[in-house]
Amino acid sequence: AVFDQLTNSLEAAWSKLRKEDVLTRENIKEPMQDVRRALLEADVSLPVVRRFVKSVSEKAVGTGVIRGVRPDQQLIKVVNDELVSLMGGEMVGLEFSKTKGTPTVILMAGLQGVGKTTACGKLALYCKKKSKSCMMVATDVYRPAAIDQLVTLGKQVDVPVFEAGNQIRPAEIAKRGLAEAKKKGVEVVIVDTAGRLQVDRGMMDELKQIKQVVNATEVLLVVDAMTGQEAAKLVASFNLEVGITGAILTKLDGDSRGGAALSVKEVSGKPIKFVGEGEGMNALEPFYPNRMASRILGMGDVLTFVEKAEEVMLKEDAEEMQRRILEAKFDFNDFLKQSRNLARMGSMGGLVKLIPGMNKVTPQQIREAEKSLKITESMINSMTPKERADPELLAKSPSRRRRVALGSGRTQEQVSALVSQIFQMRVRMKNLATMMQGGSIPGLEG
Ligand code: GDP
Repeated sequence: AVFDQLTNSLEAAWSKLRKEDVLTRENIKEPMQDVRRALLEADVSLPVVRRFVKSVSEKAVGTGVIRGVRPDQQLIKVVNDELVSLMGGEMVGLEFSKTKGTPTVILMAGLQGVGKTTACGKLALYCKKKSKSCMMVATDVYRPAAIDQLVTLGKQVDVPVFEAGNQIRPAEIAKRGLAEAKKKGVEVVIVDTAGRLQVDRGMMDELKQIKQVVNATEVLLVVDAMTGQEAAKLVASFNLEVGITGAILTKLDGDSRGGAALSVKEVSGKPIKFVGEGEGMNALEPFYPNRMASRILGMGDVLTFVEKAEEVMLKEDAEEMQRRILEAKFDFNDFLKQSRNLARMGSMGGLVKLIPGMNKVTPQQIREAEKSLKITESMINSMTPKERADPELLAKSPSRRRRVALGSGRTQEQVSALVSQIFQMRVRMKNLATMMQGGSIPGLEG
């Protein structure tokens, strides 16, 4: 099947970590080489692979130890999360017309032989199953059999096909088809267009024209998974020329290596909305990045396990933290732990949304927070264990602060600021905790 090769090559990477205790910059080097090779073999484009490997490496080293979780399992989880985000994160469904009485118009584009006409029929059946009345419009006036093919598919899925022969301009046919659909109160109109052997000016112009005339809700480019990174490039160039809303990736059942599924979003900025996995009219599925990633890794149970372990640890940490806060003992070790938890939550993406009050945090804010945490961490890392546990030591000794500044490559001002920050935090956090426990806030009474 499609991801077998990729799945196998990746397993070689995990196996190299079995004997390790924790993920380090050193011991992930070799496994990450395997990941890199596996992705290139799957025909993911080089720049995409480079960015992917870099980002996984950084996140993997930053995760620290999660109790009960082996490093290989931890890396699998990081790779999974990055694969999901590489493929666009969330599933992006079909857009439907929001204006009453105006049908949703789906314009289908693509090169010859990629499975565009087949995809029209599949999509029509999909919409029918969603209880939307549907109509297809045949505008491929160049290939003699194209209209017949669509009519045949229409019969198969029991969806009417509008055609007007091959003597009228495609844009005009599309216009008439849409008028007919409006008259009949059809909800979704799927417009099949002519495919060419390769991208050319005429094709792009024609598409633009049809898109404008029918005011398309969706412009979907159908691409063939067998063409790997070429498919991703096509989506990018069609988007630039015509402006599309997404892609349909066909033939993911064949012996394609799957690289297209991984590259399209990153290369073109447009999501894959559906995948085709067979010639039959039922072989069309919405594209779920998380399901696709699990399929690639073939490690669904490991992922669930790591997630659970992370949640348990976050919860225990939070309870322990609260105790220390109430006792005003919050020190640099707590600070470090908390910042790592924050980073982990950020990389877990979805979890952030589950925490009350965190759902309005933007990715940009998370990135900035992560950046400033990195600076803080570097300074804490240069402190001795005693200094971490007892911030007073640093508060009293300029020479200690100087040493930390030198060790972390920061300025003494930055170190001083961090030290006073922890004392401010102690006060503020204790107040907050007392308040949340129903007590009153010292200094704010009366
Ligand atoms: P078009 O020229 O882009 O309209 O391509 P067609 O719809 O005529 O499809 C070309 C060939 O690909 C046909 O033999 C289809 O049955 C086949 N095809 C289309 N989609 C898929 C798919 O998802 N999987 C497989 N295996 N074959 C497909």
